[in-house]
Amino acid sequence: MTMPATRGKPLQLFDSMTRMLREFVPVRAGKAGIYSCGPTVYNYAHLGNLRAYLFTDTLRRVLLFKGYAVTQVMNITDVGHLTSDADAGEDKMEKAAAQQHRSVWDIARHYTDAFLADMAALNILPPDHQPKATDHIQGMIDFNRKLEAAGHTYLLPDGLYFDTSTVPDYGRLGRLDIEGQKAGARVADTHGKRNPTDFCLWRKSPADSRRLMEWDSPWGTGAPGWHLECSEMSLRFLGAPFDIHTGGIDHRQVHHCNEVAQNMGFLGNGDAGVRYWLHNEFLVLGDDKMSKSKGGFLRLQTVLDQGIHPLVYRYFCLQASYRKPLEFGWEGLKGAGAGLKRIHLRVAELAARAGADTATRLRDAVANPLTADVAALSTPLADGARRYLADLDAALSDDLNTPRALAALNTLLADDALAATDALRLAALFELVLGIRLLAMTADDLNLRAKDAALTDDRISALIEERNLARKNRDFARADAIRDELDAGGVLIKDGPQGTTWEWKPA
Ligand code: AMP
Ligand code: ZN
Repeated sequence: MTMPATRGKPLQLFDSMTRMLREFVPVRAGKAGIYSCGPTVYNYAHLGNLRAYLFTDTLRRVLLFKGYAVTQVMNITDVGHLTSDADAGEDKMEKAAAQQHRSVWDIARHYTDAFLADMAALNILPPDHQPKATDHIQGMIDFNRKLEAAGHTYLLPDGLYFDTSTVPDYGRLGRLDIEGQKAGARVADTHGKRNPTDFCLWRKSPADSRRLMEWDSPWGTGAPGWHLECSEMSLRFLGAPFDIHTGGIDHRQVHHCNEVAQNMGFLGNGDAGVRYWLHNEFLVLGDDKMSKSKGGFLRLQTVLDQGIHPLVYRYFCLQASYRKPLEFGWEGLKGAGAGLKRIHLRVAELAARAGADTATRLRDAVANPLTADVAALSTPLADGARRYLADLDAALSDDLNTPRALAALNTLLADDALAATDALRLAALFELVLGIRLLAMTADDLNLRAKDAALTDDRISALIEERNLARKNRDFARADAIRDELDAGGVLIKDGPQGTTWEWKPA
């Protein structure tokens, strides 16, 4: 989107470091750099993860709308993330590979592809850079060398550690009670860490076994710590300082505190090199946070299986502020579906009144939010229509208040005083930030047709693969549910020594 930078009201964002709303002032005039913690690709993304990426997409779209040239970087964690955020447990990738009898590279490829497909289905703009951790091992080793030279590290038998007492105010981002943690820690930490908050920068492979993914380093053959990759790749792609770092609220406590410490050690100027830390609250399921490692979780595919369009989930998330926990429920999702359908029906009506040429022109003008010309699109609006644009800008400038933006959309769509072309033009402008394909889709498209829900060969293969995975994970309830679903769709599966085969049941 091109227009003078910082259009409209000053953008207020809630910064986790200061715990305050702060006006967004970019490091470089007219530009905004965002680093978003990306997926750990040992499993499918669940709906909670996808909420995190919908939030960063909204942030990016708002900055574009306001005229910034945005660069977004999102990493792919394909190595190093242990089953606990602290340095405990197994590597999640290696664990998945062992369970599924597949190579770690296969696991990473499969779940990365599935993730990208989910992003596309949710109309999330692809990040400008999507680096994989395994492509940046040398950079991480060099990063550690610099930390070591500056005296921030120490060696233990199992690897290289960061000494968190060497940076000022460690844990401020998470408001961690460091003194309390020290008092609570065992006097003799058998592990040998100098401070309870110290964390691993390089994990040495055990002497008696090989890791599936390991690299040589000055600290022995092994793998990088998980926190390291985000420090290395954010500073590499965006430079220091950069504007905004995002992630889910869970990262405020450990992962991002460790990134701050690493960056400070690396930059050596008392600065972590990040101007705004933004965190999305969780999608919750009853009293539970949705979690990837707990097995039973809801995927975007689960939503599709219910005949619900993926953009309904996008709309559902937009109905809540990213800073409020959002309770997932099927009723809520269906309600969102009904609301989105009403909006699409109304837009179709306006398109019919404005004429096919106008509708097509507007649709094409907003097809790509990265290049859409907001100024040119806004100019022809009559005075009476302009106030809705101001409402949209005011809502977004208020810490990305998407519920308020949706309310403004609904009000304008119900405003009979607006000319159809103006109302449609406004819908196009709203679409740039909402991403619910207001002009590129019809209400009919929202109804997943029977053919989409039917069992295609691809879908059957995917279900069989998921069932095999569920069985390996001893999730027999899910495995049985998949067998039942296939059975109901007329597919007979046979488990044999060569694996699972399938055939259509005789009619
Ligand atoms: P992961 O793939 O587990 O590293 O998580 C990817 C992103 O999803 C991170 O930014 C997490 O903080 C975020 N996240 C994890 N669980 C949830 C949840 N239930 N709701 C919202 N965001 C989440
Ligand atoms: Zn990260």
